[in-house]
Amino acid sequence: MSPCQGEGRESESPLSLKIMYDQKSYNKWYKNNRDKKVKNVREAFLNLRLKTLEILGNQCTRCGYEEDKRILMVDHKNDNGSAERKQNGQGWKYRKQILEKIIAGSKEYQLLCPNCSAVKEADRHIKNLNARLVDWHNKSLPTIREGSNSPISLQ
Ligand SMILES: [Zn+2]
Repeated sequence: MSPCQGEGRESESPLSLKIMYDQKSYNKWYKNNRDKKVKNVREAFLNLRLKTLEILGNQCTRCGYEEDKRILMVDHKNDNGSAERKQNGQGWKYRKQILEKIIAGSKEYQLLCPNCSAVKEADRHIKNLNARLVDWHNKSLPTIREGSNSPISLQ
């Protein structure tokens, strides 16, 4: 069993510092168990990812790509990934929380291949740019907006 699995073993999550009786004891323990611990952490992260991919369908939501699962990305449908990462970091806690939310039925996440992810990002960028242009238009050229027949349409 990996150090990250099982009930009541939360304190042994891979990114937490294992506090033992003193630092010397810990250093000695770590030196003797380093390889095993690294392997366990890698396996735990891999298992977490595989579970997440499986529940999300093991393929790109947009184009159906499924040949190489290593490149599939967990996407935040509402583009709030950076806010979540600010709150939880990018490590174990963050990824585990995503899996728990998905298991609980959350529809906030989807799998995307890198290509579809890039297209989504480009769409988002253009949408934000348009919003800024409309904002600039509204602030800078108020006289043009008088009436309903503005010559400039940005949407
Ligand atoms: Zn795709």
